[in-house]
Parts: sequence; structure tokens; C-alpha cells
Amino acid sequence: MAATVIDGKAFAAKVRGQVAEHVARLKEEHGITPGLAVVLVGEDPASQVYVRSKGKSTVEVGMNSFEHKLDAETPEADLLALIDQLNNDASVHGILVQLPLPKHLDEDLVINSIAPEKDVDGFHISNVGLLGTGQKSMVPCTPLGCLMMLREHHGSLSGLDAVVIGRSNIVGKPMAQLLLGDSCTVTIAHSRTKDLPDVVRRADIVVAAVGRPEMVPGDWIKEGATVIDVGINRIDAPEKGEGKTRLVGDVDYASAAERAGAITPVPGGVGPMTIACLLANTVTAACRASNLAEPEGLTA
Ligand code: NAP
Repeated sequence: MAATVIDGKAFAAKVRGQVAEHVARLKEEHGITPGLAVVLVGEDPASQVYVRSKGKSTVEVGMNSFEHKLDAETPEADLLALIDQLNNDASVHGILVQLPLPKHLDEDLVINSIAPEKDVDGFHISNVGLLGTGQKSMVPCTPLGCLMMLREHHGSLSGLDAVVIGRSNIVGKPMAQLLLGDSCTVTIAHSRTKDLPDVVRRADIVVAAVGRPEMVPGDWIKEGATVIDVGINRIDAPEKGEGKTRLVGDVDYASAAERAGAITPVPGGVGPMTIACLLANTVTAACRASNLAEPEGLTA
């Protein structure tokens, strides 16, 4: 039976709508306009595209967007001084430093200098610890988006066997924590995992966050499992013409869709949810800063 396609684009539009409603209410009832500051150091083309798209989405939901573009050679002290200024600016509720940073900057130091309550990427060591101990935190956007889609599809995740392929701090590890928080039995697989196909075949939920095009074939997928494909890989597409490329995930979509119960496509699955969750985290941060009720369903 063909799998249900989990439409991340449509779901992200719904989440953005909920954020916009909450922003409108914050403005009307409390005179608060949530603000997101994005800091970009250098001219990495992909990062520039991401930052532009984040700024546009922020304004579209009625929030303030503050963009800070710094020269690639910016000294660490200057970047830390800017973060300190944003930490102390009451109109800024969320701060995001676009990664990767140029080599001369210490990424951990920079991220850990963001006030944890404004760390809408959820990468600050305090937020990592809070998530790991099941306390209220800022949750990394990509795994939060995956969790929202899984909850929407399954209702309760309790007792399900989940395998996360990938153990990065950005996706794999927080994803595993979130699934554990929802009472899944969680396995984290990585490049040294023995018998990966067998490990994946046990799973009711497979989250692939590897960065290797179409690495997971359909015959690794248990009949009826839910597959969340985080991977974004650009590959050659000679069928579209010379020099053309296309995006694929970490899962071989065609064969996996024949066995899965539900699956996210690439593009149009996890990707759009990531920015929607960044907006959700910013509105959550704005509510917490003023001790107001948080929007329901927009965080873990
Ligand atoms: P990463 O930091 O490079 O981590 C990749 C993980 O995959 C590592 O833990 C690595 O294991 C594991 N791995 C590599 N080869 C493997 C293999 N053959 N078998 C099993 N595991 C293997 O990547 P990431 O930042 O987590 O990103 C993963 C993918 O998600 C990328 O395609 C990225 O572009 C995409 N992504 C998408 C979004 C979105 O918004 N949709 C957001 C973030 C990332 P070791 O630890 O053992 O090396």
C-alpha cells in the first residue's frame, strides 16, 4: 500500500498561521511585538539565502526582524559585543547566529554567549541540558519540526520503537531526546553502528539525519513504519539537462514509500518545518520573557 505523504509544506503553513495569530494577540493585548535578530558573519552564499528567507518569514508573521551582517574577518570580541548588546535589548526576543562561522571564531563560545532564554536555535549548553533532563527549554528547530509532524500523524508516540540515524548536536541527539520525552524506545545509530539495516528494520519510526543521498533503501523499512527524512542532499540530475541538479533526502523515497505507512518528501517535508519552528520558538520566547501563557502546540 502506498505511504501517506506527510506534507511538511502544508503543515509549516499551518504552524506559521498559528504563530501569526499569537503575534497579533501579543500586539493587541500586551503591546508586544516579538523580535528575532539574525547574525550573519561572512558571505557564505547558502547562509545568505537562509538568512534572507528567515528575515522574510519573520516579517510575514508580523514579528520584527533585525539582521546583522558582519564582515568575514570580524574579530571574536566584536561578535561577542554584538551578542551582549542583543541579549540586553528588550525588543529582541530571539537571537540566531547563522552557522557555520568563519574558522577563526569559536562556535561553542559564541553560541554559549547568547542568553539561553533568547537562544531560539536551542544550541546553548543550558538548553541542551534542560532538554536532556526533561525541563522547559528552547528546542532545536529541525527536531522540533520532526516531532510536531510525528505527533500530528500518530497522536501518541508512547511505546513506539524509534531509530534516529545520525548523532549530531543539531539534529540527531536532540531528536532522540524529544522522542524519549514522548516515551518512545529510542536507538541512536551512527557511522559505527553494526548491522544498520537490521537496526532500522525494527523501527516504527525512522528519522534519517545523515547527509548521504538516498542511503536508506526501502527494504530497510519495516512495513507500515513512519519515515522522517531530514537529509538535504544535492545530486546531479542529467535527466533535467546538462549541469542540472536536484535535491534528495537520506532515504530512497520511491522504494521506501512502497513499504512505509507514512513518509516525508524531500523537498517539502522537514525543510519548511524548520523555519516555521524558528518562528514558533521566537513567539514562545517573547511570551516567556513577559510571563505570559505560551501558544499551545508550538513547543515540545
Ligand atoms: P552531521 O553533523 O554531518 O551528522 C551526520 C551524522 O550521520 C553523524 O552522526 C554520522 O555518524 C552519521 N553518519 C554518517 N555516515 C553514516 C553511515 N554510513 N551510517 C550511519 N550513520 C552515518 O549532519 P547533520 O547536521 O545532523 O545533518 C544531517 C542531514 O540533515 C544533512 O543532509 C543536512 O543537510 C540535513 N539537515 C536538514 C535540515 C532541515 O531543515 N531539513 C536541518 C539540519 C540538517 P558519526 O557521528 O559516527 O560520524
